[in-house]
Amino acid sequence: MVPVPAKGRRVQRMRRQPDKRRIVPKPRRPTAGANLPARHPLRHAEFLITAADWPQLPAGGAPEVAFAGRSNAGKSSAINALTQRTRLAFVSKTPGRTQHINFFRLPSGALLADLPGYGYAEVPAAMRRHWQRFIARYLAERAPLIGLVLIMDARHPLTELDSQMLDWFLPSGRPVHILLAKCDKLATGEQRRVLDAVYEALTESYGGRTAQIAVQLFSATRRLGVAEAERAVESWLAPLGT
Ligand code: GDP
Repeated sequence: MVPVPAKGRRVQRMRRQPDKRRIVPKPRRPTAGANLPARHPLRHAEFLITAADWPQLPAGGAPEVAFAGRSNAGKSSAINALTQRTRLAFVSKTPGRTQHINFFRLPSGALLADLPGYGYAEVPAAMRRHWQRFIARYLAERAPLIGLVLIMDARHPLTELDSQMLDWFLPSGRPVHILLAKCDKLATGEQRRVLDAVYEALTESYGGRTAQIAVQLFSATRRLGVAEAERAVESWLAPLGT
């Protein structure tokens, strides 16, 4: 269980080893009108809409969980692992959609918002400025946004732009769950060292806001830490009945 941190507690560090289960039950296929299993609220997500600017964001107020990360950090793979869809998040990589927020709807009605990957050197300056304004406003002001999953490559965590995302989002007071992705590329001892280093850096930078932040190791390809990440998102959605 990865609870939303209790007030006053420090950054939550997932000290135990990532979930090592390799065999994951196949998701049950939904049938029209059938009640979906409440235990797997992230499964069966479907692409909903793509938004390039504020007026295009979905109306209706359904709770949203956003996923953000530097391009190539492993965000699409993480979304696919959590939703158990093999190609879902790659929608966001299709030409014309890489600078948009792509929304997926869960059977409960809650939305997953896949934010554009950042850090592409070749993005034109004007587009980068538009992206920055849009994402900064989205993270700071979007009312239905209930939590942010921030994906970082475990080998290069807490880049300048990762910190920028935290600076935009944390004043909202909502929780952020950091996945140190591709941790399978690090030896076990190194994984622990990186987790400690990220934990310490976050505590140093965001001392007053660390109760909002949790961090864990994650590997989509080895399915390490998937259950913990899933439980974190579930803990944000469940109190809302989603
Ligand atoms: P995105 O650009 O952040 O959406 O990143 P992707 O999910 O597309 O992943 C970028 C690259 O990293 C791809 O070649 C993936 O196969 C690889 N990758 C993603 N997750 C993992 C992981 O957990 N372990 C390893 N070894 N490679 C990964």
